[in-house]
Amino acid sequence: MTLPASIAELQQGLRRKDFSCREIVAGFLDRIEASDKQLGAFLRTRRDVLDEAQSNDERLARGQALRPLEGVAVAIKDNLLLRGAPATAGSQILANYQAVYTATAVQRLIDAGALIVGQTNLDEFAMGASTENSALGTTRNPWNQALVPGGSSGGSAVAVAAGQAMVALGSDTGGSIRQPAAFCNVVGLKPTYGRVSRYGLIALASSLDQIGPLTRTVADAAQVYQLIAGPDACDLTANPAAPADVITDLRAGIQGLRIGLPPEFFGQGVDPQIVTAIQEVAKVFTRLGATIDEEITIPHAPQALPTYYIIQPAEASSNLARYDGVRYGLSVRTGPDLAALYHSTRAQGFGPEVKRRMMIGTFSLSAGYADAYYHQANRVRDVLREEFHRAFDRVDLLLTPTTPTPAFPQGAKTADPLTMYLADLLTVPANLAGIPAVSLPAGFVNGLPVGAQLMANAWDEATLFRAAYAFEQATDWHRRQPPLSGD
Ligand code: GLN
Repeated sequence: MTLPASIAELQQGLRRKDFSCREIVAGFLDRIEASDKQLGAFLRTRRDVLDEAQSNDERLARGQALRPLEGVAVAIKDNLLLRGAPATAGSQILANYQAVYTATAVQRLIDAGALIVGQTNLDEFAMGASTENSALGTTRNPWNQALVPGGSSGGSAVAVAAGQAMVALGSDTGGSIRQPAAFCNVVGLKPTYGRVSRYGLIALASSLDQIGPLTRTVADAAQVYQLIAGPDACDLTANPAAPADVITDLRAGIQGLRIGLPPEFFGQGVDPQIVTAIQEVAKVFTRLGATIDEEITIPHAPQALPTYYIIQPAEASSNLARYDGVRYGLSVRTGPDLAALYHSTRAQGFGPEVKRRMMIGTFSLSAGYADAYYHQANRVRDVLREEFHRAFDRVDLLLTPTTPTPAFPQGAKTADPLTMYLADLLTVPANLAGIPAVSLPAGFVNGLPVGAQLMANAWDEATLFRAAYAFEQATDWHRRQPPLSGD
């Protein structure tokens, strides 16, 4: 049986009774079985999902209406809670933790008929850009298994790229949805900060984290986004206003849309071949009726990376204080007192990158240094936010590369954290500004996928999706699939 490639195809097949939800899910589980020894996208699959699919089928047999994600096989990043299932965040400290409630975003997909096939690998606590910081396994890029899939949502990107799941959820604090999406040739969206509830997402940096979809097509991303977006009484940072509808005008075209190409995103450190690929993307947008503005600038964009690497570890160090050997997960008792419990639990439970960020974050928040580092970084963040704000007075969208380079070899950046941080150069500005951004399959360089990033004004996901859809219709990049994709 060939498995449907999109949500729309799945819906049509279910309506015509070409297949059942159970058959679909069994098909995806078979693909995982066939390819995941090599790819390592999943930390675990869920046996229960076959029974759950069966109850979807029974609902349909009773004549109940098809729900928007009926039978859709979904993979979730292992920092999203699913009640009763493990949730490790890729860390030894949570290796034996079981979630006691379900994340709002995950629950909304389940309520729409989705079936969770498994939980995917990630950099420990979502800190990283290659999934190599996971304490629980290695994930490989399906385009070339010697390369990294990107991170931190590497497992989720691979699961979708390799056809192991139709949709995946990831989290994006500084690029962790968009960057692996770019490396694996899938669509990845980071919504506006506060658009999707963070309830049940294991926190990394609370002022930056957002949950979002990874999919093969823009239409699928729009569907999933529409379901997970919206207010949530369990997360008071979620915007209480109802989200704009991104589906109705998805196909309305982009005649007259103004797109800016800020030069700061095409300069130092960005592979010239990637620059060329994104200039081609701009030409496609022009052909589709958009006007390109190359004068637009985000002058402080080059300061975004150092700013992010102050704010993010600062918030991470506070969030990670809860892993103390008392409340959650691992507990290592080596000495008589509480301090010894804290020390040995953390020494054993956290990996090197997590420890590094806890130390940097604690330092930059400490009384003597907060003014010079943490507060200063927040001032730069305000400036950056203002610059984006002004840019969106003039243009509707900004177009940039998602990443400075294509996927890199396993091990190439693990010895030097700073080179790894540079992979986030072009994605962190959107997180600091809180604006939505999407990465789209947009070309190939030396046989490896290139992602184009579109950024929009806060809360304007509708324009983002409309432009992304128009681009996708005009190009074939998203149709290219890696060798192990199963179809
Ligand atoms: N690579 C970035 C980091 O290591 C982004 C991580 C993320 O978005 N979760 O912090």
